[in-house]
Amino acid sequence: MATMTSKKDYYETLGVPKTASAEEIKKSFRNKARHLHPDNKDSGDEQAFKELAEAYEVLSDQQKRATYDRYGHEGVKGAGQGFDNFDFSNFSGFGMDDIVDMLDSFFGGGGGMRGGRRGGPEQGAHLKFDMEIEFLDAVFGTEKTINVRRLEDCESCSGSGAAPGSNPVPCVTCAGVGQVQQVINTFFGQALRVIACPACQGSGSKIDKPCKDCKGEALVRKQKEFQIKIPAGIDSGTRLRVQAGGDKGRKGGPFGDLFVVLHIKEHETFVRDGETIHIRQPISYSLAALGGEILVPTVEGAKPLKINAGTQTGTTVQMKNLGVPRFTGQQRRDNRRGDQIVHLLVETPTKLSGEEKKLLEKLAELRGERLTLSKADIAKAEEANKENHKENSDKNDSGKNQEKNEKTADNGSDKSAGESPESKSEKADSKKDAGKSAKKKKDDSKDNSFLDKIVDAFRPKNGETQH
Ligand SMILES: [Zn+2]
Ligand SMILES: [Zn+2]
Repeated sequence: MATMTSKKDYYETLGVPKTASAEEIKKSFRNKARHLHPDNKDSGDEQAFKELAEAYEVLSDQQKRATYDRYGHEGVKGAGQGFDNFDFSNFSGFGMDDIVDMLDSFFGGGGGMRGGRRGGPEQGAHLKFDMEIEFLDAVFGTEKTINVRRLEDCESCSGSGAAPGSNPVPCVTCAGVGQVQQVINTFFGQALRVIACPACQGSGSKIDKPCKDCKGEALVRKQKEFQIKIPAGIDSGTRLRVQAGGDKGRKGGPFGDLFVVLHIKEHETFVRDGETIHIRQPISYSLAALGGEILVPTVEGAKPLKINAGTQTGTTVQMKNLGVPRFTGQQRRDNRRGDQIVHLLVETPTKLSGEEKKLLEKLAELRGERLTLSKADIAKAEEANKENHKENSDKNDSGKNQEKNEKTADNGSDKSAGESPESKSEKADSKKDAGKSAKKKKDDSKDNSFLDKIVDAFRPKNGETQH
């Protein structure tokens, strides 16, 4: 056992100046440990190694180091005890780096062998708070007040856990030290380790008469109010971290953090996809045919939108910079924002006055449209269908099939009144809205869940088809 009087200065042992940083101490320890380790046949020295380990145990722990700086070896009595019975022969079979790593972790990852590490102050638990926010609040940002139930120091006992008038008494198991020695099995054999006393969880004291309010826990759950700043452009599922917003730690440990998880409510008009906002905008068939201008809702309020003549239902129109502001981390670094995509839906009138009816019939006549079929038309179609079916089931000759199908298609358009207005306006659309239909295609290829959402949102509701 190393005696106190003959002990070398710890700084000297580690070969570092008194002003050395924690990093320097660690580095020097690792170098010297490699050199002095008993497994090292050339330079190994068990006694010197133990002294080195003891010096590191003290100097790598801020508190112990401060005590040592003030009181010398007397102040840190007991340091290195864990190594007295250390059987270094069990180290064999490991590389030097492994051993140094093990020793380092033995000290608690360079933080020093605090002994009561597990029983000492601990940071409190992190808490999660689910918060629903309005659609527009997520777009523009807002500030919200939330109430969180969390552990705080008990006021009745000032966080001691003991009933007023009584005091904690020293723990019998560890004699008030808070630590006990324990034989542990490591990868490299048995070792003595100083651990937190299991009877008092390292506090060194026991509470005889627990405080009634906290039942000796020293902490009680209380309601705490927080102001939460919600940045513009934030999306559902984002976690906002409130430092020290969680539970108070035990034994004077710091507060944990609070994580506010945002859930954005659905909006009846707007559907959000990242920075893009989608809306469905019904338009009348007259407007779709003639073109014009309407007001459409945006997150900035109603804005005018030009409708091209010959607009088809399902056409999408982009309204630039009327989407969601781009959220980049904690603060917005640019002023960019997404767009709004308007899905135009041409509505067919359901209630027609006598005059309207007459005008529409006149219109159909003007366009050479036939609104009914004659028996001969139906018979001819059925004949063609039969032939087509026979051809298809007879042989699956691909070449022939294709030819036949083409022929049938010709027949079809023949029948539906010379020039189909459908195909005509489709052509017009594809010419005018080439960019837009490309955009739409892109939307279509999005993942199914989002598509479902859009489809749902755009599903006509009862009575909505009427003006
Ligand atoms: Zn209490
Ligand atoms: Zn104890």
